[in-house]
Amino acid sequence: MTDSRTLFAKAQELIPGGVNSPVRACLSVQSEPLFITRANGSRMWTVEGRELIDYVMSWGPMLLGHSHPAVVEAVHQAVDQGASFGAPCQAEIELAEMLVAALPGVDMVRMVNSGTEATMSALRLARGYTGRNKVLKFEGCYHGHSDAFLASAGSGVATLSIPGTPGVPEAVVADTLLAPYNDLDAVEALFRTHGDEIAAVIVEPVAGNMGMVLPQPGFLPTLRVLTQRHGALLIFDEVITGFRLTYGGAQNVFGIVPDLTCLGKIIGGGFPVGAYGGRREIMSRIAPCGDVYQAGTLSGNPVAMAAGVATLRELGKADYMDLTRRTKALAGELKSVLEERGVQVQLNCMASLFTLFFATDPVTDFASASKADAVTYASFFRQMRDAGVALAPSGFECAFTSFAHTDEDFEKTLDACRTVHF
Ligand SMILES: *Cc1c(COP(=O)(O)O)cnc(C)c1O
Repeated sequence: MTDSRTLFAKAQELIPGGVNSPVRACLSVQSEPLFITRANGSRMWTVEGRELIDYVMSWGPMLLGHSHPAVVEAVHQAVDQGASFGAPCQAEIELAEMLVAALPGVDMVRMVNSGTEATMSALRLARGYTGRNKVLKFEGCYHGHSDAFLASAGSGVATLSIPGTPGVPEAVVADTLLAPYNDLDAVEALFRTHGDEIAAVIVEPVAGNMGMVLPQPGFLPTLRVLTQRHGALLIFDEVITGFRLTYGGAQNVFGIVPDLTCLGKIIGGGFPVGAYGGRREIMSRIAPCGDVYQAGTLSGNPVAMAAGVATLRELGKADYMDLTRRTKALAGELKSVLEERGVQVQLNCMASLFTLFFATDPVTDFASASKADAVTYASFFRQMRDAGVALAPSGFECAFTSFAHTDEDFEKTLDACRTVHF
């Protein structure tokens, strides 16, 4: 019988860091990944045969739970008909119809293969449509790994961007403007100096990649007003929030219609799918009906489309309010248990997302999130995993619940938390 440690050692010989996406290596929690062989409902099983209650849920996609029978059945049926055609199929229309019907900002939609492709392509379209180059993003928001979004704030002047990683040219991020999340003064200042150069403002309407951070009242509405006033497009990156906050997106919850919407994760039901959509007039600029080029060999893949359609069909019947209430109760009780252990915790929670920050002050942006104690989180992560609960291997991520999580799962999670000590 093999074990995760042996497999990880072998993987590290063959794959950089032993993983195909960095956070999985568990470096920031001073741990090693467990190799998974199977997942069902709220549970995953490691190669050692250990059972884990999962709060990562593939980083969001598995809102119905792992291996939902309706999704599995749809995928089997689709793959029996062929894995990929490179020609149109009906399932593309079905998924597009569902997205258009659910999202007020989406009249037309183009399928891609990941969230990264969705944001990258939406930015190209925004630039093509406006004839402008600059994009304003918020620190701590993640929009995938394409060059333009991998910018960090330079020291000193907050508006000067530097490459967030080697390999990204300075010239590329020179067009990326950065502002702190929830900081409208910074946004207004950037519009004052660069108003006629900004193609788009891109935002996670509820941030999920610096841990969960809520937009403060007025933040999203003001972004809508400012972009409109200056002829820039507002892009909602709903790769996490789409079909998680509600059936639809943050745009339904907050009543704000963005010009472009980026989707991923849930809409592929666990398969590699992304999408970007928006107003008909803007989307009509995409090739072949327009002049902005974007393509994909496997885009609209019939198996992935079938998984997406089946997922959304099930979610259309799901009780989001109930999951919201139960998740909030779980998160609140976890906070209490941790506080009894003498650690200070800030809880941010919405729908089926929450983050427990080991911080003393409320977390409203990247700077306050960064003050959370990563060492305490690492210890929490390791002890919880030893007790059978899989949390994200970084303190700056969300916990994801699903419709498959039972009250018994939550009780067991709280029991695990009661054994934790710092
Ligand atoms: C996950 C994520 C992405 C990137 O999606 P990938 O499928 O990993 O490329 C983009 N934006 C947000 C908000 C995300 O959470």
